[in-house]
Amino acid sequence: MDAAAVKNLAKELGADLVGIAGADILNALPPDPKFPQTPERISPHVKSVVVIVKRIPVGAFRCKTTVPVQYMDMMVLRRMDRIAYRIAEALERDGHPSFVTAGQETDWSYKKASYGRLSTRHLGIEAGLGTFGLEVNILTPEFGPRLYLTGILTEAELDADAPMSEQVCIGESCSRCLYSCPSDAVRHFGIDKRNCATEAQEFGFHTILRFWEEYAQKPAAEQKALLADREIFGFWQGLLRVVGSFGDCPRCLAVCPVGNDYHAHLAKMQKVIPEMTPEKKTKAAGFKEARKSGAEIAGLNEWNLRWVGPDGYQGIVARQLQEFKKRQKERAGEED
Ligand code: SF4
Ligand code: SF4
Repeated sequence: MDAAAVKNLAKELGADLVGIAGADILNALPPDPKFPQTPERISPHVKSVVVIVKRIPVGAFRCKTTVPVQYMDMMVLRRMDRIAYRIAEALERDGHPSFVTAGQETDWSYKKASYGRLSTRHLGIEAGLGTFGLEVNILTPEFGPRLYLTGILTEAELDADAPMSEQVCIGESCSRCLYSCPSDAVRHFGIDKRNCATEAQEFGFHTILRFWEEYAQKPAAEQKALLADREIFGFWQGLLRVVGSFGDCPRCLAVCPVGNDYHAHLAKMQKVIPEMTPEKKTKAAGFKEARKSGAEIAGLNEWNLRWVGPDGYQGIVARQLQEFKKRQKERAGEED
């Protein structure tokens, strides 16, 4: 199987996007060299990583509550894993040992946060599928950040795709993700993971830990009352359906104006961001000024710039919107 055949198969199986990253590049350029999330740390034999994307259906971002997004996330992940498994099987049938790692797992020996053996965002960027947003999600031109990714690690030597050099994220002059963030976790092409987790992992690991620490210190009568707490229900539901344990907060995904799914179904309803505050506006203005003046910005240092898009923002979203509107007009003409 060559790269084209693998990509065709991925599309036939239902992947929305597919790209290929070379293991040599992923090994040489880990997201954080102090904690290398590299294929070689998993297996020294891996030559290529096939990266697939499943988009989150946009309807989930049009709801009054976050629950539909949480359920869709879980279903998207299951579907994506099945597609990845089938690709690994096909590569093995063709004589190339291949496997898939869990896209959302955490390696306990690394940092004490959600930190997997591989960073799927970086896999996607190295496979040419998108670049970092201000909130360091991967933004694809097709679906913005409303997606999940996983990688199939294979010993097949497949032609790798080149990363995009144009920044997909509009950047500081947009800052809509920053405005929408309920825990003010968005940094300048960075994220405060702990703050984000308070919303995105309401019933995640740290909540569970805190709950049981508090529980252990209470007298027996109060412990009994705590067992009827809403958080216990949240933990149970998280075990049962994953809901609440991660991917809980959709705000920065819902408001990002990249992608035709946004132009078609979200632009109107997400135009106003109720979470916007004067403090957040000042923060965004500070980011804009820092970039303009060439100040040192950790998220844009020499190591990270590769994943942000070294050529900077050149209007990809505006071009996309024009094209989208043109097609809408043509379609309306056809229907008349
Ligand atoms: S997921 Fe929610 S809390 Fe986390 S950065 Fe995005 S908007 Fe903020
Ligand atoms: S909302 Fe704007 S600033 Fe944030 S990631 Fe999307 S395009 Fe970039």
